[in-house]
Amino acid sequence: MQTHIFDVIVVGAGGAGLMAALYASKTASTAVISKLYPTRSHTGAAQGGVGAALGNLEEDYPEWHTFDTVKGSDYLGDQDAIEFMCQEAVDAVYELEHYGLPFSRTPEGKIDQRPFGGHTNNVTGKPVRRACFAADRTGHMILQTLYQQCIKNHVNFYDEFQVIDLLIVNGAAAGVVALELSTSELHVFHAKSVVFATGGHGRIWEVTSNAYAYSGDGASVALRRGLPLEDMEFFQFHPTGIYKLGILITEGVRGEGGILFNDKGERFMEKYAPKVKDLASRDVVSRAMYTEMREGRGIGGKNFFYLDVRPEVVNRYAALDGRKRPDGSPYIVTADEIISKLPDIADFCRVYLGVDPVTQPMPVQPTAHYTMGGIPTNKYGEVVIDDQNTVLPGFYAAGEVACVSVHGANRLGTNSLLDLITFGKHAGLRAAEFSRGATLQPLPKDAADFALAQLNQLKNSAGSERVADISREMKSVMFDHVGIFRTADGMKTALEKVRELRQRHQHIKITDQGKVFNTDLINAWELGNLLQLAELITVCAINRTESRGAHARDDYPKRDDANWMKHTLAWEKDGNIRLGYKPVAITKYQPKERVY
Ligand SMILES: Cc1cc2nc3c(=O)[nH]c(=O)nc-3n(C[C@H](O)[C@H](O)[C@H](O)COP(=O)(O)OP(=O)(O)OC[C@H]3O[C@@H](n4cnc5c(N)ncnc54)[C@H](O)[C@@H]3O)c2cc1C
Repeated sequence: MQTHIFDVIVVGAGGAGLMAALYASKTASTAVISKLYPTRSHTGAAQGGVGAALGNLEEDYPEWHTFDTVKGSDYLGDQDAIEFMCQEAVDAVYELEHYGLPFSRTPEGKIDQRPFGGHTNNVTGKPVRRACFAADRTGHMILQTLYQQCIKNHVNFYDEFQVIDLLIVNGAAAGVVALELSTSELHVFHAKSVVFATGGHGRIWEVTSNAYAYSGDGASVALRRGLPLEDMEFFQFHPTGIYKLGILITEGVRGEGGILFNDKGERFMEKYAPKVKDLASRDVVSRAMYTEMREGRGIGGKNFFYLDVRPEVVNRYAALDGRKRPDGSPYIVTADEIISKLPDIADFCRVYLGVDPVTQPMPVQPTAHYTMGGIPTNKYGEVVIDDQNTVLPGFYAAGEVACVSVHGANRLGTNSLLDLITFGKHAGLRAAEFSRGATLQPLPKDAADFALAQLNQLKNSAGSERVADISREMKSVMFDHVGIFRTADGMKTALEKVRELRQRHQHIKITDQGKVFNTDLINAWELGNLLQLAELITVCAINRTESRGAHARDDYPKRDDANWMKHTLAWEKDGNIRLGYKPVAITKYQPKERVY
């Protein structure tokens, strides 16, 4: 078995991992381990933009961004961390610009900005242009730009290595164990600091915008090593996935003036969010769509709606809303303009739906999208392991796998890319700083045994269960019962099913016994992670007897600040889940009812 030694190991090569590696590598020997080739990470799929109150097109301030994020989080976000992120946002975006990121521009050459859900002018309550974008390929550009910078900075890359285990020695992180996918050889990476930036777990649900790689590996590995996960009941459904496929249609479409219609041709969001309408926060829009569906107003009685960005429709509603260009002229768009701002969306629609969005409306439905919960950290990316925020020395997490918590119960659009670049940076800086003062923890001889045992258990099981069957059953029951609307009965049904599936997973049949890219084995291991997290999510969701942000319960329809203004922490030990709580950090904004 090969052992590699570095000061800092970063697991994950998405926006968060690359930003951490870039900053760590300025002062420490740094390696990035990624199961995917770096630029295939899900960050590359992000379309709409990165939020920062640059105020390039109209008045805007970091304070407004802070308040919108607190409100969007349904007051569960930690306000100290949110303030920090929104203040850092402006410089972070200019930093990306200086690295060479090709942002879309205004005619004067400034970074262009578009409106996004939940981002408002705090005085008028109207949508504000805060999302900085590179057409509808913002994440792709971030990923390419950061990858180039990492190469320039001599970061070491181990591509197509799957991390199976985290090593903790003497109460501190000491490295990871990874499987080299092309050979099935196990490698030990011995380090003074470890940063997890492994993304989310949206593949738990049937209809999802998430990449196949979103199997919750980082969260699951940490959980198996006895660490808690925070706020796992909160998972975001994005209102506009392509019907049945789940592929995302960015909120930027509504930012450019697109409107949602029901079967009666009504712009139904007017009813649910009179001020910002189609640009309400995602939890609000997704719930409105479900309510419309239940009341029979989905298109043709089915579970979808039309998202309409045809220029004549955009212009008609922009006039009704009194929307203006920054120079005060009426907001009027042409088909060419729409295509130039949303080229990939236009392509997706033509390829997957045979629909041309400038002449036809797009059929959309809510799609599982974003993991708000995750490995608990403070605002410097340091992993914390209890209600006292005790730091686990040498262990850091950033990006979608982490819960800082800046997104609380519901993330605002564009705040994830921002989260990656701010907390990725600070996690990298802290990891490097820690490694300077630390000595390598001695590794035990059996360091790789736990990883090996997990893989052997799957390989050698004599069962006949198939990954595809278990996976399908999990996705379906989670989508039906632990989705946008939840009830105790439904969730209990899901919990029983997921527990049964976890048992069946012990008897999985691996047909490929080869060593070269054994995806059969890896898929089975990843499915184990998804099942473990699905159970934990369901237990946390049953436990939280209120509705807040993305967690909406029919049996407890109100937010209950008296009892539930707190974060959930969840541990799993010997198959038993234990829950605890942690207070929410409140600085300036006392909880209020959310009105959009
Ligand atoms: C379709 C789509 C559009 C989006 N649009 C926007 C947007 O416009 N604005 C916005 O703010 N947010 C957007 N988001 C959310 C945002 O893009 C993601 O939350 C964010 O990119 C996640 O970045 P990350 O660095 O945490 O993870 P990722 O970019 O997913 O990277 C995870 C990395 O971890 C690695 N990894 C995972 N498991 C292992 C393992 N076991 N071993 C080794 N490596 C591992 C992977 O190889 C990968 O490199 C969008 C999300 C989706 C799905």
